[in-house]
Amino acid sequence: MATIMHFECSRCGEKFAPTPAPTICPQDGGPLYVRYDLSEVRWHASRDSLIGGPKNMWRYAAVLPDAEPVTLGEGFTPMLASHKYPNLLIKDEGLNPTGSFKARGMAAAITMLRHYGVKKIAAPSAGNAGGAMAAYAAAAGLEAYVFMPKDVPIANRLEVEAAGAHLTLVDGLINDCGRMVAERKDKEGWFDVSTLKEPFRIEGKKTMGYEVAEQMGWKLPDAILYPTGGGVGLIGMWKAFEEMEELGWIERGQRPRMICVQAEGCAPIPKALQEGEAASQPWPDAHTLAAGLRVPKAYGDFIILDIIRKSKGTAVAVTDEAIMDGVKELASQEGIFACPEGAAALAAYKQLLATEFLSANDKVVLFNTGSGYKYLDVMAKYWSVEAFGGGRTLPASRNMGGIIGPW
Ligand SMILES: [Zn+2]
Repeated sequence: MATIMHFECSRCGEKFAPTPAPTICPQDGGPLYVRYDLSEVRWHASRDSLIGGPKNMWRYAAVLPDAEPVTLGEGFTPMLASHKYPNLLIKDEGLNPTGSFKARGMAAAITMLRHYGVKKIAAPSAGNAGGAMAAYAAAAGLEAYVFMPKDVPIANRLEVEAAGAHLTLVDGLINDCGRMVAERKDKEGWFDVSTLKEPFRIEGKKTMGYEVAEQMGWKLPDAILYPTGGGVGLIGMWKAFEEMEELGWIERGQRPRMICVQAEGCAPIPKALQEGEAASQPWPDAHTLAAGLRVPKAYGDFIILDIIRKSKGTAVAVTDEAIMDGVKELASQEGIFACPEGAAALAAYKQLLATEFLSANDKVVLFNTGSGYKYLDVMAKYWSVEAFGGGRTLPASRNMGGIIGPW
C-alpha cells in the first residue's frame, strides 16, 4: 500500500502534511488530493503485480492508502460490450455492494476514518451515497447520520434505516441537506463525509479509472460518458490517469475525452461549459427523475469543468423522457437493468453520435453508475402514468419518493 506524502489543494496547490482525518484546504475550501510517492510505488508494484490480486477495488492497493480495508467486495465490475453499438462498452457499476458506484468512495473514506479513530460520520445524499455510507458505517462499526431530500427513491431511505444509520429527511435538495450537516457537525462531533469535503472518496472512485485501463488491456478509450452529480468519479478517474502515466502503466497523451452527462432539469455543468465559465451557478428549481443528477451545484464544479476542457470533452443535458427510454433500451437490448443516471449516459451517447461529436468508430466507455432495482418506485410511477393514458406528462420528481402505489 502507498505511503501518503502530502495532501494537495485542488484550488491553490498548497501542500499539507499528512495529518489524520484531513478535510478541505483551510485557506480557500478547495478539495484536497492525496499525493503518494509514486516513484516508490513504481519500484515495488507493476501492472503484472496486479495479476492474481483480489477481484475488487483493493487489487489496486499499491495506489491506495495504507490501512486495513473496510470492504464489502466493491469494485472490479464487469465491462460489457454493447450488443447494439459495436464500439460501445458498458461499465456496469450497478453490481457493486449497495447497488451503485458510491460503494467505492465510501469504502475508501470509511476505511481511512476508522483508521484515524473517527466514531461518528455525517453526509448529505441525493440517494445512493447515503445507502452506501450507512452500509459501510455498519461494517466498520461507526455511527452514521444521513441527510436526504424527502423524495429520494424509497430504496435509499429503507437501506439507510435498515443499516441502523440516523436518517433525517429534508424538505429540500442535496444542497439544503449539506447545509444542515455543516451547521450541526461541530456541535454533534460528526466528521463530514460530504462529496469532496475529505480526500478519500476520490481515492475510492479513482479505481474506476484503473479498472477501465486494466480491463481494456492498458489502452484507454477515446471517450468516457459519465453521469455527473457531484462528479467525484470523473475527478477520480482523471487522477488515476495521471498516476498511471507517472507509473508508466499507460502511455502519456492518450487520455479519453471526458463527457459529463446531466439532465435537462438540472444541467449546471453543460450551461457553465457553454458560457465559458470556470465554475457553475446553482441551478434553480432542479428537477429530474434521475435522483443522482439532482445536484444544483457541485462542490468540485471548477475541477469538473477544467477536466472536460483539458480532455477536449463536452457536457450534455438529456431529457427525462430520453432517460426513461434509455432504461428500457439498456434492459431490452443489452440485458442491463440500469439506473436512470446510467440510462442518461446512453441518451447522451445517441445525442453525440447524431451531432457527430462522437463517431460510431470511437471506442467509448459508458458508465452505468447504479442498479435499476434501486428505482422501482420511480419507474413504476413513470410507466404507470403512461399506461393509464396520461401521455408523457412527467410526474414532478419532487413528489416521487416514498410513494407505494397500487400497481
Ligand atoms: Zn487551497
